[in-house]
Amino acid sequence: MTMTLNEQQARLEALAREQGASLFGVADLQPLLEREPELLSRVPGAHTRAVVMGVRLNACVLESIHEAPTPLYAHHYMQVNYLLDRIALALATTIEGWGHAALPIPASQVVSNRPLQGHVSHKTLGGAAGLGFIGRSSLLIHPQYGAQVRYASVLTTLPLKAGQPLKQDCGSCHACQESCPAGAIRESSAAYDLTACHQTLQTFSRLPFVGHQICGVCVKVCKGRS
Ligand code: SF4
Ligand code: SF4
Repeated sequence: MTMTLNEQQARLEALAREQGASLFGVADLQPLLEREPELLSRVPGAHTRAVVMGVRLNACVLESIHEAPTPLYAHHYMQVNYLLDRIALALATTIEGWGHAALPIPASQVVSNRPLQGHVSHKTLGGAAGLGFIGRSSLLIHPQYGAQVRYASVLTTLPLKAGQPLKQDCGSCHACQESCPAGAIRESSAAYDLTACHQTLQTFSRLPFVGHQICGVCVKVCKGRS
């Protein structure tokens, strides 16, 4: 039996949530590409939508972080990335079964070191899908879960119903700015010092049993605005 587009969208969301996603949204790529023509320059295909999935980080693991990442956080970070990649694969396979193109974008695969970047920015896609706003920390901030979510995406030609960007900001909160060990976070995301952040992440990657360019300090303190 042929599914309607609404039924396909509901099926994809249910599939994502059954597999552990806390957040699900869809971004229309057309307006994004008009603003950022290079957005998809690293990936093949002529996609029109991005499905964005988010998995919340574990609160107890985040509690282990004080001024630097911990082995517990490093392991958890990787496991959440793997979970997101599996969810993205399941959705992409389902969409392909419906006869549309679908490209799973890894949760965290670095393909450029200067600056540190993946295939496509999940936070850009998630912001367009209405899952959050870009905060002072330059992270995607969900109104309820703050920065404590990791994301993966599936680019597709399936014309799903897209969300709208949120009209919110950090307000009077400066928690991440006050706690950043690199001094990288400023008054606005436009002034965020990516280089300072990355230098600190490289230092952290040499910590015993961490081994990745991660931090978690600004994630731990960002608990949402509602
Ligand atoms: S990841 Fe760490 S160093 Fe980078 S901005 Fe956040 S708190 Fe600062
Ligand atoms: S901790 Fe506060 S200032 Fe920093 S990104 Fe989150 S909401 Fe914005």
